Amino acid sequence: MAKILFFSAKPYDKEYFDKHNQQFGFDLEYYETHLGPHIAGAAQNADAVCVFVNDTLTRPVIEVLSARGIRIIALRCAGYNNVDLEAAKEFGMEVCRVPAYSPEAVAEHTMALILTLNRKTHKAYNRVREQNFALSGLVGFNLHEKTVGVIGTGKIGKAFIRIAQGFGMKVLAYDTRPDPSLLTSGAVYTDLSEIFSQSDIISLHVPLFPETHHMIDANSIAAMKPGVMIINTSRGGLIDTAAVIAGLKSRQIGALGVDVYEQEEKLFFRDLSSAIVDDDTIMRLVSFPNVLITAHQAFLTQEALDEIAGTTLSNIQSLLNGKKQNTLF
Ligand code: NAD
Repeated sequence: MAKILFFSAKPYDKEYFDKHNQQFGFDLEYYETHLGPHIAGAAQNADAVCVFVNDTLTRPVIEVLSARGIRIIALRCAGYNNVDLEAAKEFGMEVCRVPAYSPEAVAEHTMALILTLNRKTHKAYNRVREQNFALSGLVGFNLHEKTVGVIGTGKIGKAFIRIAQGFGMKVLAYDTRPDPSLLTSGAVYTDLSEIFSQSDIISLHVPLFPETHHMIDANSIAAMKPGVMIINTSRGGLIDTAAVIAGLKSRQIGALGVDVYEQEEKLFFRDLSSAIVDDDTIMRLVSFPNVLITAHQAFLTQEALDEIAGTTLSNIQSLLNGKKQNTLF
């Protein structure tokens, strides 16, 4: 029976993978710790490792896994910026992922961040619980007829555009590979400088690549409309966090909603409520009244978890049978 070692495993991973494994019958072993150099050597007698967004598969980690006989790296996510693909290729490892488990899950969370920041429902909830029924400080703006700039019009960007258009928003889009099917939808492709200068809200949906790293920096922020709302549900590294903090302090940025953070691997997916957090940058971000941070939960719906578990186990089954499915090379 093939054995799969899970890293960064949470109770919901175990629930959904155990359910779907009834069809496959693999031996599943779950570890709470993330996969990195500290634990790679402990991976033994297994065929595959199953990892998530903050497991770090650097060259040294891949080298150790390969020496322990592991042949498959199964990402239970869409992004793969945390895997050294060159090293994986060199050591003869297969790398598979779940390219589209539920674009709607992430797109709907993107709109949840926008609506919460704009209409301040998180503040209203707390006020009313304390019998504070006053409305001062809760003024928002209509989304209807406002312009949203969508950077990256792949699966998630497109799902988000459909939602934004449902609110009557004008959509400006940017992608290095424009999607012709969007042209008839009313969305208008343009360049980044127009997105920056015209958008009331900017939402990021591009993968993290060297060319997209810090695409939101001091220069791009300076080119934006004063009071712009920036939303990032893609990858933390797209935003230069120090530049965004400066933009919030100068009031150039009116609101920031993020589900991802540059240094999230040291923080997210853990309960640190009794700990002293060493990361001063996230603590500064948390202190702004117009910043909303969620801890990489945009994917977290029942539908997405079902799709992730089913597709990941099926990817591994195919690879064990010598067939490539959702592999990266
Ligand atoms: P996708 O591959 O379908 O779309 C990405 C789009 O970005 C493509 O259209 C591509 O042409 C475009 N692109 C690539 N490089 C570009 C560049 N330099 N400039 C402009 N456009 C560029 O991916 P997707 O499924 O829509 O996912 C997008 C990202 O969302 C993923 O890479 C991942 O990082 C993130 N994500 C986050 C969560 C979460 O829970 N927060 C969950 C899933 C995915």
